[in-house]
Amino acid sequence: MYRAVSAASRVHADAEAAGLNAKPAPPTRHDQDRLIGGLLSPAFDEQSCRSRYASPHYRRPSPFRPSTYLVERLRRYEARHRRCGPNGPLFKEAVQHLRSGRNAARSECQYVVWTPFNGVGNRMLSLGSTFLYALLTNRVLLVHAPQEFDGLFCEPFPGSSWTIPVDFPITDFAGSFTMWSPTSYKNMRQAGSVSGDHRNVSADRLPAYVFLDLIQSFTDAAFCEADQLVLAKFNWMVIKSDVYFAAMFFLMPAYERELRRLFPEKEAAFHHLARYLFHPSNDVWGIVRRYYEAYLARADERVGLQVRVFPEMPVPFDNMYGQIVRCSEQEGLLPKVVRKDSDGEANHSSPAAVAPESSRTKLTSVLVTSLFSDYYERIQGVYYANPTETGEYVEVHQPSHEGEQRTEARAHNQRALAEMYLLSFCDRIVTSAVSTFGYIAHGLAGVRPWVLLRPPSPETHADPACVQSKTVEPCLQAPPRQICGAAEGTDIGALVPYARHCEDEHKGLKLFP
Ligand code: GDP
Repeated sequence: MYRAVSAASRVHADAEAAGLNAKPAPPTRHDQDRLIGGLLSPAFDEQSCRSRYASPHYRRPSPFRPSTYLVERLRRYEARHRRCGPNGPLFKEAVQHLRSGRNAARSECQYVVWTPFNGVGNRMLSLGSTFLYALLTNRVLLVHAPQEFDGLFCEPFPGSSWTIPVDFPITDFAGSFTMWSPTSYKNMRQAGSVSGDHRNVSADRLPAYVFLDLIQSFTDAAFCEADQLVLAKFNWMVIKSDVYFAAMFFLMPAYERELRRLFPEKEAAFHHLARYLFHPSNDVWGIVRRYYEAYLARADERVGLQVRVFPEMPVPFDNMYGQIVRCSEQEGLLPKVVRKDSDGEANHSSPAAVAPESSRTKLTSVLVTSLFSDYYERIQGVYYANPTETGEYVEVHQPSHEGEQRTEARAHNQRALAEMYLLSFCDRIVTSAVSTFGYIAHGLAGVRPWVLLRPPSPETHADPACVQSKTVEPCLQAPPRQICGAAEGTDIGALVPYARHCEDEHKGLKLFP
């Protein structure tokens, strides 16, 4: 039986060929691939995070190359993180100020602390956005990692850590950072305790930190340049968000030049950020690798199908399944089967019936991810009982069916992350509208997904069933209603040619090529 060379054995051979443990040599083409065109630092120990250098080999080569400038800025960021990061003297000094309750007038190092909110997909979008914010504003990114988040990812910055230490002065993140927090920038502005004009703000009179509340509705005026000048005076900032707020920076003239240099291909902004930042821990990578080798490695083509049914839009199974079939037929996604007549006989002779037994037959793997098993069962049943029109073989797999979202459970989150990675190894990806889980998968893959659109109501049909997105970027689902400097009612999707509304969420905002 035909057995394709598995990705893992390719990785091993590649690693050996690259002489990973040898003295530094001029970068070869292979190093370029292993380090994703210089995106990744070569300075890590491979065993501590096996996914870091291995995962790119599980996908087709990305169509996007990181810019030289992005690579240079990342290396500069890493140097700053080493200098200012946890345990060094500069960090200790900054933490003392935080403890004192007063902002320091000057500080060599400024920090942004990210705190998680909502599911893993939401978390990755907001964490990626916070990292971009740190790059743009020369802050050091630190992560508050509660137990359910701990152990998902490897450390992304060499020679340092992004996790806040156990003796960090802020402990009650859930209680301290709510929409009512007096430390939130919006509330400080409303209370008049901080001016919106940076010339009237003296850094040493400010509280020790500011909270930027970027959850869904964006009541904060964080994306005005005047506010950014005030925020720049705070040495400590805490961000809580569940959205891809990075898209907003692309509307701000102050960051335009820098973002153009960082991401000449705007479509690939999240793709590069995610491939740089998110490396599944060895535990999660173990799940990914084992599953891939057991179920997906042999396939000639892998099609990912992510079915997310939200509790607030409970589309019945038959409607959702029908939509998947309509989408697949319309876009030619899943191999077609030969229909049978009522006696169970194929009603025309399929190529499978005439193909010689010995010829190499194409194998397509369909990877279904969903909280429920019924979509997998129906699709698997179709390919079990019917030959395909082309005679190719189709296998259908679903790694788990968790039944419900359990964001507070670490092992559940690990499986969710593993499945996003497995989806990102697929050649074609079909996602569900407005699901950040799906955004992460196609963003990592660098693939433009087919998006199963949301019907107007659970009982009605979406028409069309799906569209192929024109970009790899995720959608910022809830941009601010009011845009700085723009007249009331200005359409946020018409301000610049490369940021428009999303296919799956009309009021959303997304970057296009
Ligand atoms: P979103 O709600 O679709 O935007 O995605 P999130 O990742 O933010 O939150 C959904 C959460 O539900 C995930 O993080 C998982 O905890 C769980 N979940 C949803 N779909 C799946 C799935 O297909 N597989 C697994 N393992 N978990 C899922």
